[in-house]
Amino acid sequence: MTASSDFPLFQINEDHEAIREAVRDLAAAKIAPFAAAVDEEARYPQEAHDALVASDFFAPHVGEEYGGVGADALATCIVIEEVARACASSSLIPAVNKLGSMPVILGGNEEIKRKYLTPLAAGETSFSYGLSEREAGSDTASMKCRAKLDKSAGDDSWVLNGQKSWITNAGVSDYYTVLAVTDPDGTRGNNISAFVVEKSDEGFTFGEKERKLGIKGSPTRELIFDNVRIPGDRIIGAPGEGLKIALRTLDHTRVTIGAQAVGIAQGALDHALAYVKERKQFGKNIAEFQGIQFMLADMAMELEAARQMVYVAAAKSERGDADLSFFGAAAKCFASDVAMKVTTDAVQLLGGAGYTRDFPLERMMRDAKITQIYEGTNQVQRIVMARQLLKG
Ligand SMILES: Cc1cc2nc3c(=O)[nH]c(=O)nc-3n(C[C@H](O)[C@H](O)[C@H](O)COP(=O)(O)OP(=O)(O)OC[C@H]3O[C@@H](n4cnc5c(N)ncnc54)[C@H](O)[C@@H]3O)c2cc1C
Repeated sequence: MTASSDFPLFQINEDHEAIREAVRDLAAAKIAPFAAAVDEEARYPQEAHDALVASDFFAPHVGEEYGGVGADALATCIVIEEVARACASSSLIPAVNKLGSMPVILGGNEEIKRKYLTPLAAGETSFSYGLSEREAGSDTASMKCRAKLDKSAGDDSWVLNGQKSWITNAGVSDYYTVLAVTDPDGTRGNNISAFVVEKSDEGFTFGEKERKLGIKGSPTRELIFDNVRIPGDRIIGAPGEGLKIALRTLDHTRVTIGAQAVGIAQGALDHALAYVKERKQFGKNIAEFQGIQFMLADMAMELEAARQMVYVAAAKSERGDADLSFFGAAAKCFASDVAMKVTTDAVQLLGGAGYTRDFPLERMMRDAKITQIYEGTNQVQRIVMARQLLKG
C-alpha cells in the first residue's frame, strides 16, 4: 500500500462543494419528506427518482461523451452520501446505476457503451447488477447460471438459463448486467461471461420482492431466466472475462457503499444532535451531560475518519491506483461498521423516542445494517484486503 506520495490523497474542489450543496438542498426538499413513507410502505421512492433525473444526479458517473455529466468518483460519492443522509433507499438509485453500468464502462466496446450508457445518462432507465445467486453469494465463482452459445439462428447469440438472487432495483431497471458460466468445463473464475440483459427480453421474469429489515424502498428481487436469447453483441468484453470485470467493478463501487454508509451515519448524528439540545432531564438539556457529550464526540470522530477513508478510496478509484482493491474494501468495511455504531448510538441518545417510528433513527439503524452485507460482506472485505496485503 502506498501513501500516494506523488498525488494528494484527495482534493475537494469548488465543483465538489457546489455538488454537495445542490444535492443537500434537493434531498431536503424532494427526498427527505418522503423517506418515512417509503420505508413504512416499502415502496420505490419515485419522488427521489424523478428529482434525481431532473437534476442530473440520477447516474452522475456517466461520461459527457454519452450525454452524462461526467462526475468524477469523488463527486459521485458526494451525491450518494448526501442522498443517503436523507433516505438510504433513494441513495441506491445513483449507486446501483453505477454498479450496474460499471462493467460496461470497464469492459465494454464503444458500441455497447453508446447503446446502454446514453439512455442511462438521460434518465430513461436504471441499470442493475446481477452477480449473486441463492447458493453463490460470497463464493461468486460457484454460480450456476448458464449461457450457451447458439449459432442455430445464424448469429452468435447466447441462451441464458438460471437465476440471480437479491438484485437491487430489479423490476425497476430496464438493463441488467448478468454474469453467467459460458464454459462449464473451463477453469474456475475464467469460465464466466458478462452480458447486458434487457427487461423486455423474452423468458426474463422477476421473483417476489424480498421482505427486508431495511432499505425497504429499494426493491430486491430474483432475476429468473428461462431460455432467454441474448444477441452476440450484448456480451461485455470477451467470453471468460466476465468475473474479472465484475470484481473490478466492485473495487470501484464498494467506495460508493462507503459513501452511503457515511451519509446514513451523518443523518443519524444530525438528528441526535438536534434532539439532545432540546430534551431535558434532571432539569437540564441532556446535551449538558458529559456522558452524552463523549458519545457525540466519538460518533463524530469515527464518522469523520470514515468519510476521509471513503474520499481517499474515491480518489484512488478515479486515478485507477493499483492499491484500489485494498482501499475500496477498507473504506466500505470501516464506514459500514461506523454507520452501524453511530446509528445504534443515535437511537440510544434519543432513549425511548429513538426506538419508535416517530423519529427516523430506528430506520437509519435498520438501513445501516445492509452496508455491512452487500457488495461483499465485511468478512469478504477483509479477505480482499488481506489478499492485496500479502501480494505486496
Ligand atoms: C438487500 C440486498 C441487496 C443486494 N443487492 C445485490 C445486487 O444488486 N446484486 C448482486 O449481485 N447481489 C446483491 N446482493 C447480494 C449480496 O451481495 C450478498 O448477500 C452478499 O455478498 C453475501 O452473500 P450471501 O448472502 O450468500 O452470504 P454467504 O456467502 O452465505 O455468507 C454468510 C456468512 O458467512 C460469511 N462468510 C462467507 N464466506 C466466508 C469466508 N470465506 N470467510 C469468512 N466468512 C465468510 C459471510 O461474511 C456471512 O457472514 C444483495 C443482498 C441484499 C441483502
